[in-house]
This record gives sequence, C-alpha cells and structure tokens, in this order.
Amino acid sequence: MLALAGVPLGYRFVFVDPSPNAPAATVGEQITCGYQDPLGVAALSECQVVTYEFESVPVEAAEALAQRVPVFPPPFALRVAQDRFEEKTCFRFLGIGTAPFEAVSSLEDLERAVEALGLPAVLKTRRLGYDGKGQFVLKHVEDIEVAWSAVGQAPSILEGFVNFSRELSLIAVRGRDGQCAFYPLVENHHRQGILRKTLAPAPALTVDLQGTAETYAIRVLEHLDYVGVLALEFFESDGMLVINEIAPRVHNSGHYSIEGSRTSQFENHLRAILGLPLGDVFGPSYSCMLNLVGTLPEREAVLAVEDAHLHLYGKSARPGRKVGHITVRAESEAKLAERIAQLEKIPGVCDAT
Ligand code: AMP
Repeated sequence: MLALAGVPLGYRFVFVDPSPNAPAATVGEQITCGYQDPLGVAALSECQVVTYEFESVPVEAAEALAQRVPVFPPPFALRVAQDRFEEKTCFRFLGIGTAPFEAVSSLEDLERAVEALGLPAVLKTRRLGYDGKGQFVLKHVEDIEVAWSAVGQAPSILEGFVNFSRELSLIAVRGRDGQCAFYPLVENHHRQGILRKTLAPAPALTVDLQGTAETYAIRVLEHLDYVGVLALEFFESDGMLVINEIAPRVHNSGHYSIEGSRTSQFENHLRAILGLPLGDVFGPSYSCMLNLVGTLPEREAVLAVEDAHLHLYGKSARPGRKVGHITVRAESEAKLAERIAQLEKIPGVCDAT
C-alpha cells in the first residue's frame, strides 16, 4: 500500500522480505532475504530513503542501515516500541496517562506485581506480542502460575486492567522539518485480539478528546524526534484517554484513509520520510474499514455495495490472517451503518476465526 501510494509520485520501490511470497513483490523489486542479510543491506543502501512497515524488524538492522542511508522512522522509535516496558516508561516520563504497570522477569516478580497492582490484570510479553498474542488476563491469584507459563516465562510486564468503554487510535504524521498532521481519532473493534473494524471518525468525537490525543502525540513525536506515520492506541475510560501502545509505522486502523481522507496515511508517510510537504488529512465523509480475517468474500458481492472498496493483499487465506480489507464510505453515519450491515451479511466478510 505504501508503494501503491508512491508510484504515482514517481518513486520506485525495493522491498526486503524473508517470505518468498510477499504481496509487495507485485509493486516493486523484492529481495527475498533476512533483514540483516548483506544482500538486502546492499540493495537498501542504494535507496534514497529506507522505511519499515513491520515493527519486529531487528533494531540492529535499522541502526546499521542508518549509518549509510536515511532511515525513518528513526531506529530509536523502533527500539522503544519493541519493548512494552520501555514504551510504557516513555509514556510515564512524558506525563501521558497509561495503565499502572510493573516489569516481570520471574514468578516471584509476578507475585509481587499482582500484589502491587491488584486483579484483574494483564500479563504481556515485553517483546514480540501483537494481535493479542503473548498475553494473559489474570482474574484470580490462582492464575499466576498459569499466566507465567502462558507467556513462556519470557520477560514481561503486568498491567492493571483498564475498564474502557472503547478503543481509539490516532494516526499522526511528522515531516522531516517537524511539521505535524493528525487524522481524526478512530474507533476500533477487536475480536480475539485482532482488529476487525474501524470507524472514522470515531462516533461522538469531541474537540476536547481530539485535542488531548494530539497533545499526547506531539509529546511522543518530539521526544522520539520522529519522522513518518506514528499510530497511538488508546482506551477511552470515563471520558479520559489512557494510552496503550504506539506503532512506529503505517497502521491497520489508518487503512480507511486510502479512500476516506484527502491524503492517505501511506502517501503522508512517504511525503514525511522524503521531506515533502504533508497532505491534507481531512476526511470529507464517514468511513468504515472492515478487515478480512482468514477468509475472502466474493468480489462481486462486496463491490455491489455502494461506495465500498476492496483491497486484497494477495495472501493465501488461513485462520487469523489478515488477507485484505474493505473500506466503505457514506455521507451520514446512518447511511454508513446501513452499508456496513450490508457488507457484514456477505459470507467471508465477518469471519471470526
Ligand atoms: P495489545 O497487544 O496491548 O494491543 O492488547 C490487545 C488487546 O487486549 C487490546 O486491544 C485490548 O482490547 C486488550 N487490552 C490490552 N491491555 C489491556 C489492559 N491493560 N486492560 C484491559 N484490556 C487490555
């Protein structure tokens, strides 16, 4: 999707991906190798700029490349986002409200952390957790041992459970000159830890809530000397924003912006890292993004719904895998709800696996 946004601007793309069947290969040159393989490093070193859209890229690979070629977002942002403890410590330092948390590296630590934070609480591995993987919700003291083995006894954090009314995210973008732009907060719906639906803008969004999210985003962007798109994920609890995590990349909750905004998150990410002026993030209509998880619907059925747009990633379908998304737009929230209902009736659109 980055390349699809960048080709019309006159850029060509080289992708490094360990998987031989990477979807990006259809829109640029793919080097199939590991992120630290000299083959990939040599190809990327010849590029004008290097970016990443997968946050588990080894930070050492990004740092090594940054010695030879501009790498954005800065590898430091990747380092912070890859470790939940570093990330939450950063939020605390910046005065951004987050769930109370404790580092856990042994069963004894976990017992102490449960005592300090109370239950329920969420145990999460510090690294490599995504889409709800590497997590365990503890409800009773008896859960402690099960939780510790569920996360594979890996270095973790225990977080207090946030009683949230909904999950929101903010897509922010900062250019090389420090110019920033913010998409409206969007409302995200997850099932089994996987994002299923995003509503843009978030229903009943207030100027205050948007303002608070932007204030928090500016603190993070400036602290990390960030360049590119950054996603900030929040819980809304009693009308307040509690930050959960950041993603130093274009984000699934911003996919709606391809049709839903004057400039998509993908184009704005490229504009930012290339030092170009940022584009208008205004969304002239109401949008909804529905993820296709594990199954593919019939093209004909999706495209028969008014103002629905289909994006298939060219990945083979398997349970729990995001294989595409649909964006649907409307001029009113009521009309949007109607179109979402039409789409959700299509077999393969609303699969919970
Ligand atoms: P994460 O991997 O941190 O994005 O967490 C995955 C999902 O688990 C979130 O989208 C929330 O629905 C839920 N979750 C994570 N952390 C907490 C928490 N501290 N309190 C309540 N729910 C949480």
